[in-house]
Amino acid sequence: MKIIFLPNQNSVKKFIKECEGKHVQQIAYSSYHDALTQICFNCNVVRTSLDRFEIADKIKSKEAGA
Ligand SMILES: [Zn+2]
Repeated sequence: MKIIFLPNQNSVKKFIKECEGKHVQQIAYSSYHDALTQICFNCNVVRTSLDRFEIADKIKSKEAGA
């Protein structure tokens, strides 16, 4: 699943609205990061307002271990 980084929560909400009713999606909100994340199984993407650089290292280490 591809991860798409969006600049803010409103951008994520726009995609949530687009997929709503058509696609199977899950929405996650992180109060710690104040970030919104959409997982859409039909688009096969994760869209998040999380900071790319903040999580890049963690993703990298996870992929290395997989
Ligand atoms: Zn979708």
